Amino acid sequence: MTAPNPTDDELLAWLDEMLPVEQSTRIEQLLRDRSELRQRAALLARRRDAGGHTVGEIWRRHRLSCLSRSQLGEYLLGVADADLEHYIQFHTQEIGCRLCQANLEDLRAARQAQEPSEQRRQRYFESSAGLLRSRR
Ligand SMILES: [Zn+2]
Repeated sequence: MTAPNPTDDELLAWLDEMLPVEQSTRIEQLLRDRSELRQRAALLARRRDAGGHTVGEIWRRHRLSCLSRSQLGEYLLGVADADLEHYIQFHTQEIGCRLCQANLEDLRAARQAQEPSEQRRQRYFESSAGLLRSRR
């Protein structure tokens, strides 16, 4: 059984040294074995350096960095622009950045906590906590 070729996105991430060690090792092995894959990687690198709108280009512009809370917030609200949305999906799902995944979860939870029923529950807990404190 032959391993599937990495996707363009994976190759770009590899070029930018943003892949986890395991994944990057796997890609390097495939690159050693497959000349057509080396050609594709070289083409991607050239296209990226020419400043196309590839994921790698967006990534590089952001210094391949993690996303800010406000960017992730925009994404959750569905108001992030297409480039950013694509990047966030790539970063959190394909690259699987745990930090940004955790931030997204956190923001999601914070948004849910703002919903009315949650607010009522929150007030109830706060007032009970207040009562308990005042009894001491
Ligand atoms: Zn991240």
